[in-house]
Amino acid sequence: MPGPVTDVHVHVQPWEMIRAPVLAAMRKGRSDLDEIERAFADPKVLLAHMDREGVERMVLINYESPDVMGFTTATNDWVLAYTATERARLLPCVGINPRFETDVRGRAERLADGGARLFKVHGPHMLVSPNSYLDRHPALADLYAVASARKIPVMFHTGTSIFKGARTKHGDPLQLEDVGVDFPDLDVIIAHGGRPFWTEQAFFLLRRFPRFHLDLSGIPPNRLLEWFPRLEEIDDRVFFGTDWPSPGIPSIAKNLAAIRALPLPPATIEKMLSSNALRVFPPAA
Ligand SMILES: [Zn+2]
Repeated sequence: MPGPVTDVHVHVQPWEMIRAPVLAAMRKGRSDLDEIERAFADPKVLLAHMDREGVERMVLINYESPDVMGFTTATNDWVLAYTATERARLLPCVGINPRFETDVRGRAERLADGGARLFKVHGPHMLVSPNSYLDRHPALADLYAVASARKIPVMFHTGTSIFKGARTKHGDPLQLEDVGVDFPDLDVIIAHGGRPFWTEQAFFLLRRFPRFHLDLSGIPPNRLLEWFPRLEEIDDRVFFGTDWPSPGIPSIAKNLAAIRALPLPPATIEKMLSSNALRVFPPAA
């Protein structure tokens, strides 16, 4: 009997905050905008959608990026409020941008107290490098310290971003080597595995650091084994994720079916879809 599926990477966000060119890119070519907008207004609509798609739990990625994406720090409060009555199935992810927040430690503690299950550092959209606690943004070390102490993972965007104003250089996964060395107790999630041109670097880090995890979102399932031919070696630390409803991600169910059809051992697929996420994001007591 397969276990419940967790999608660790969906973008359920306050679209009313988003900047016009970014929103245009998000909406382009989607035939399901009505349902998406109803789901973003009402978690019950999202839960019904998840039931149809075959997903038990979702991690809702939010982070502060006022100048590139339009999301102020209120996006963090928004996702805590949106998920408040459905925390068994909807896990809130928040992100603090050290370019705008003067009390990163205090904010991180308050968001953790409010139920945040994951911190996101989106370098290309925050315009912050993950290892910039070593120079420009020392307060990032406070975020990693709070996350380590409270056993809350930190997810890093790695690889490219196509949105207007994004700077992909901040998505180079090799910067996470500093984080792995300096914060050995931190659970790190490498979103997108550095795709499309840093996947080897991402795999090197995944082998080097036992607390590093891979989130499959944004990786087309038909390219997964091309980019990560030795995926089975790290299959205890791989999470299913989709990036839905970002551009190019029409349906979670299709993505799920494509992962299930990969030439991998059933045990590996079960770990990626279900048991790894249950271990790292245990159901709330
Ligand atoms: Zn994403």
